[in-house]
Amino acid sequence: MQAASDSRGPNPEPLADSPLCDRCRALRLDDIARLQLAKENLSDTIWDQDRPHTYAVNWWKEIQPGTTCQLCRIIFAANSEWGVMPKIGAHSAQTLFRSQDIADSILFELYAHTTTMLVPHGEQLPGITGRKIDHCQIDYGLLRQWVQDCIQNHGVSCAGADLLPGLKVIDCNTRKIIVLPPDSPGYVALSYRWGTVTNTDTTWRPDDALDNDIPQTVKDAIVVATKVGIPYLWVDKYCIDQANAVEKHNVIRNMDSIYSGAALTIVAAAGDDSNFGLPGVSRLRYAQESIILGGRRFLVFPDSTEEVRRSIWATRAWTYQEGLLSKRRLVFTASQAYFQCMKSYHWEALDAPSETTRDFGFYRVFPEDGIGREPRDIVRRLNEYAARQLSFESDTLNAILGIFQPYQARKVYHLWGVPFLAESDRLERNFALALGWSTRVPGNAKRQTGFPTWSWVGWANSDNLTVPWGPDSLVFGPPERLPSIHVFEGSAVGSRRIPLSEYVLRVEGGADFALFSQSILATGMASRCQVLSPWKVSVELPWKRGEAAFVVRMMGIPEDRYGEQDGDKYVEVLSRTQCILYIGCQSGSNLVFSFLILSQTVARRDRYTRDGTLTVTVPWPHNIDWLGSWTENPSNEQSSAQDVRFRGRKGQASPQRMPIDYIAQIIKFFEEKWEVEEFMLS
Ligand SMILES: [Zn+2]
Ligand SMILES: [Zn+2]
Repeated sequence: MQAASDSRGPNPEPLADSPLCDRCRALRLDDIARLQLAKENLSDTIWDQDRPHTYAVNWWKEIQPGTTCQLCRIIFAANSEWGVMPKIGAHSAQTLFRSQDIADSILFELYAHTTTMLVPHGEQLPGITGRKIDHCQIDYGLLRQWVQDCIQNHGVSCAGADLLPGLKVIDCNTRKIIVLPPDSPGYVALSYRWGTVTNTDTTWRPDDALDNDIPQTVKDAIVVATKVGIPYLWVDKYCIDQANAVEKHNVIRNMDSIYSGAALTIVAAAGDDSNFGLPGVSRLRYAQESIILGGRRFLVFPDSTEEVRRSIWATRAWTYQEGLLSKRRLVFTASQAYFQCMKSYHWEALDAPSETTRDFGFYRVFPEDGIGREPRDIVRRLNEYAARQLSFESDTLNAILGIFQPYQARKVYHLWGVPFLAESDRLERNFALALGWSTRVPGNAKRQTGFPTWSWVGWANSDNLTVPWGPDSLVFGPPERLPSIHVFEGSAVGSRRIPLSEYVLRVEGGADFALFSQSILATGMASRCQVLSPWKVSVELPWKRGEAAFVVRMMGIPEDRYGEQDGDKYVEVLSRTQCILYIGCQSGSNLVFSFLILSQTVARRDRYTRDGTLTVTVPWPHNIDWLGSWTENPSNEQSSAQDVRFRGRKGQASPQRMPIDYIAQIIKFFEEKWEVEEFMLS
């Protein structure tokens, strides 16, 4: 809890309401703000326009930028870029924050493309109240209070990880590069975009103090680090000796430790490059709007989540793990400062007890509780990352290695970027299934050399990455029919072949994934086929048209080039025979069977590339008799013959029943028609 601030003065005099246009006045928001309407009507979170106290602003297109109506001005500012019909809704603070511990009051939310909150200002009761933002100067006392409160009261959950020995930092007092002193309060790391800044000298200078020509963002970060009481700053450009190749390599491979070990990370989420500076330190923020309704002042609360999401900072690949791995982040947007540690959230524009804002999820910038709690979240992390941009393709995997690290404690591993859950008995099938990853528009993907074709890392433009996740999978058939995976140690010819389980043991023991070859050996049920269209392949499968949905996704080839142009003539690239390899089946509301489409490389006939995927979605065959359940444990005495059980969604043990006849038919089909084959994928 914070001490009473100036926003909670003595009983405020009723203020004269802001001038509103006729249409805004007709909404009667002033009555709601005065709590004159029955409170029970406000107990719902209101989004639907049919609900009480949510109004569609259907005149929004007519609002002029210079209008004198204060509500129209706020609506215009929130919506002008987007062209979405805005709605304005009233909420009870207790409902919105899901807390009975705060005094209730009314807030307004303006929904357009983003959400803008209008928070009452000057409430005398403890609770949620708006804080006036000084657009010239940030309140350093407030920043220091957020940071120091966390350091003193949040214990190990917010403390940085182990420090890298010998880490070099900027001493904010002397501006010299020094080794972090052992008795220091730690260091502040800067997460920013350097950009195309060239007006500064970044020559390694261990003995001289940094000149005054360092970029403004770095200067401002030095000020902030000093003011919050941690006067050591780590900035990549100055704290890595760029000429020392060994040191540089070492730091880049340990970039995750630098951010997870920082006492605080400053995120520069405004502007294009490092000359921009931090808003509130060396430059003005946006002026905060306010409105008086029902005799009370409401302050506009800027949506930090959206500001960060739209920032240049959020488009850069390296900054992704920097923000996620840090335990305490202090974010500077063009509107306000925002703090998030592992236990609390603070917005400059909102004065609220931190235990209240924990429930305030949709304004949170980083995931709650950090990362690495839930194994399958890794897929979401990779998806978020894949949308970002890198200056150097070769960094694609380096810039996310730190994200994989915390998931390893949850048994999530990766091989050249392909994640898999290393459950002891499902290791290989989880990995095989993950090879069926896909992207939003595979046809737009561009080959990224230096990485294997079977990993998403091997393709640029891999946005909206999805990776089939193991625990939902079931793989039918006797063990020798399941996909098996071997890995090669070292890249030289004749390097040692090891099963995937041994790879996991080696990585657990500290081995680097890059010590293993980019080629893997996949063994499984395979056949030959030609891709005919985005929905059609020439391979024989146990499903017919109408029984299943077929989707073919080819990497780097737009769908309109798949073929079926002149009768039997196909586009050349797809006319050749390809191999198709079964990799697994996922069960949800449907059964989804996945296959890889492979072709021999031109250079080496014994090598194959992953060209695309085929998925076959089959509705559960409800019309077939339910004869028993599948189990993975054949020793189960109660089950006879083929009794197979699999896990439901999210890894919960929720046995569902499979019609055994149906499965038997599919197994029989593959055993008769398909062969077990080995493919060296690279
Ligand atoms: Zn108006
Ligand atoms: Zn904390």
